[in-house]
Amino acid sequence: MDAFVELNTKAKMPILGLGTWKSSPGQVTEAVKVAIDTGYRHFDCAYVYQNENEVGDAIQQKIKEGVVKREDLFIVSKLWSTFHEKHLVKEAFLKSLGKLKLDYLDMYLIHWPIGFKAGEVFMPLDEKGEIIVSNTNLLDTWEAMEELVDAGLVKAIGVSNFNHEQIEKILNKPGLKYPPATNQVECHPYLTQVKLINYCQSKGISVTAYSPFGSPDRPWAKPEDPSLLNDSKIKEIAVKHKKTSAQVLIRFHIQRNTIVIPKSVTPQRIVENFQVFDFELSKEEMETILSFNRNWRACGIPANENHKDYPFKAEY
Ligand code: NAP
Repeated sequence: MDAFVELNTKAKMPILGLGTWKSSPGQVTEAVKVAIDTGYRHFDCAYVYQNENEVGDAIQQKIKEGVVKREDLFIVSKLWSTFHEKHLVKEAFLKSLGKLKLDYLDMYLIHWPIGFKAGEVFMPLDEKGEIIVSNTNLLDTWEAMEELVDAGLVKAIGVSNFNHEQIEKILNKPGLKYPPATNQVECHPYLTQVKLINYCQSKGISVTAYSPFGSPDRPWAKPEDPSLLNDSKIKEIAVKHKKTSAQVLIRFHIQRNTIVIPKSVTPQRIVENFQVFDFELSKEEMETILSFNRNWRACGIPANENHKDYPFKAEY
């Protein structure tokens, strides 16, 4: 199994990367350093995670030590929803680039299809406590993303949390210069995304699976929510392979040719999550895991359900 996915830009994207959402600034520098020493070359970042500066410190240090070269790394960041207006995209991109202390990114994604009121407040709320949305057009935002490629600032652009209708809209855009290179979406055995993955892959668009463990540290987690890491049927498969449930949950994506970005700030888990290239799930085991689907989302954002660009009402 190749450890890369070839993008429609011809670039090779490491199939396994380190997630950094909720990784505290105090912990993420060490986590990224451990990850680079372990062999990770792909890091999934975002402006809204408020830790890009500390991720950048680790990258800079490892390059300085000669452990990696910039061109060996694959660094992803994302445009937050308050910067969807065309004239704000480059400024937002440059903020991430500066914090990461890099002179180009490998990939930049529209984080969510939903635009919010512009400004430095990430979640602008009205007096009723509801999000103030914006009426920006995704096709305009996409044009500004394309301009970043033309300016040599980023090698590939993509989307995140888009349904297939929203991707189709971009693909049908008159004068489209670059199709999305990836769609980063939640994906795990309780949300297998079969139709969306088939759709994206049929269009030459890779899929990146986020929250592969179901994001157990998400701030809104409830004790009664389903738990992938404690699922006895996943555990059973793991035991058979002398692996952990986490390793099976990662391997599941690799065998679907889906890029996967587990998050951890725990050195021992960062290492464990990388030890997934020395075993293979059988066809039957893959089918069994796919049968666990229950269309359950850890990151559903119900507060935005009424937004015109809310992505999760469509079937896929
Ligand atoms: P996740 O990767 O599904 O789960 C992270 C949790 O699992 C943390 O609590 C972590 O704990 C724990 N963990 C990690 N390895 C483990 C292991 N081997 N055994 C047991 N527990 C383990 O959750 P996620 O952070 O939501 O998703 C991963 C990444 O996807 C994010 O960090 C982010 O980069 C990206 N993402 C993107 C979006 C988007 O909208 N585009 C949304 C969500 C996530 P410790 O850290 O304490 O070790």
